[in-house]
Amino acid sequence: MSMDAVLSRIDSDLDAATGRLFDLLRIPSISTDPAYSADVARAADWLARELSDLGFDASVRPTDGHPMVVAHGGPEDGRHILFYGHYDVQPVDPLELWSRDPFDPAIEDKDGRKVIRARGASDDKGQLMTFVEACRAWKAETGTLPARVTIFLEGEEESGSPSLVPFLKANAEELKAEIALICDTGLYAEGVPGIVTQLRGLLGEEITVTGPDKDLHSGLFGGIAMNPIRVLTRVLANLHDAHGHVQVPGFYDGVAELPPELKEQWNNLGFDAERFLGSVGLTHPAGEDDRTGLEMIWSRPTAEINGIWGGYTGAGFKTVLPSQAHAKVSFRLVAGQDPHVLRESFRDWVIQQMPLDCHVSFEGHGASPASRMDISHPAFEMARQALSAEWPGEAAFIGGGGSIPVAGYFKTVLEMDALLAGFGKDDDQIHSPNEKYDLDSFHRGTRSWARILGGFAS
Ligand SMILES: [Zn+2]
Repeated sequence: MSMDAVLSRIDSDLDAATGRLFDLLRIPSISTDPAYSADVARAADWLARELSDLGFDASVRPTDGHPMVVAHGGPEDGRHILFYGHYDVQPVDPLELWSRDPFDPAIEDKDGRKVIRARGASDDKGQLMTFVEACRAWKAETGTLPARVTIFLEGEEESGSPSLVPFLKANAEELKAEIALICDTGLYAEGVPGIVTQLRGLLGEEITVTGPDKDLHSGLFGGIAMNPIRVLTRVLANLHDAHGHVQVPGFYDGVAELPPELKEQWNNLGFDAERFLGSVGLTHPAGEDDRTGLEMIWSRPTAEINGIWGGYTGAGFKTVLPSQAHAKVSFRLVAGQDPHVLRESFRDWVIQQMPLDCHVSFEGHGASPASRMDISHPAFEMARQALSAEWPGEAAFIGGGGSIPVAGYFKTVLEMDALLAGFGKDDDQIHSPNEKYDLDSFHRGTRSWARILGGFAS
């Protein structure tokens, strides 16, 4: 059967595949630093050439920033899938904390495991190459791909993706597919892959409460003048009730309960909140007290106070009664919550708590909605079984506490769900010195995509 042949070819080709990944890792494609612009372009050229050699119709597409790489392959009449990865990397400083040159990749031993050490090994060059190598094996064994495949690689993911949405809009016809596959996430646990099916959104607000029109001396005005820090801290204290629920009116409107089968899957993942918190010196979950730990980080919306300042905070002491008090507050959002509606209800709720003589102003900082994938699309269960066949542990549908904006843009701009599967590990040190990717992740990741690709054969 061709799947077995494809998988054995991946096994026997692992050294050569690692060598090709090393070639890509040697290019310092740091997107945020203009000094590396030519290297970012060189990485795009390298990928387009590699994909052309594989028989893809590949091109480097200019944008106002760094270029995109778009490549089409496979049978015209097959099912159409889009694969997304990014070829840019994070800066490497502080360089002295690296055990080797970050752009001189090598296989190293780490606790008895082989790891690929280099900037971008895990995020995201090693991951995107798992898909490219899976395509290579299918081509080599069968002369074609099991489905029509569009590979879409971004060069600005680590610098805020300024060109992404305009590019998606301008090329919607070409990029829209049945489903998007994204490889930029990690395993759920050692040997246990996960498919991320929900990602939280984010809303940020900066609040400034103003009382007196100048800083006052508390010996002179203390007791008679309203202190804006007192006002602000009362507002912030009202954000949560004693059970951890957020008290902004309408905050939970539209927030759906987890489907029972998903809740059961999550409960079976063996998540240990105490152990999770233990790694940061805590013991007790602080979210809504009627929710599990995984619900708190994956499927429930939150409010956090990220910063608070005002008055005198320097050395020594100053009995100032300040004119202003400030705080930064952010909300992690889930599907069903509209960030723009919530921004208005949050502001109204704060304004209503202002006493006489105090007023409040706001500065908005980003408003991205959450995304929840429609896992009734048969590709999700197919991919879950393919991953379960490849890895020691059974794959699970999981949530993501952070945000991966591209998944949301595929949904809003291209009306396409995204299937996020990746093989990174928590100790990969992405964005930090000594980034690595387990050789086993690279190998099994390639085999995983080969299996998933096979599942799209029509
Ligand atoms: Zn990434």
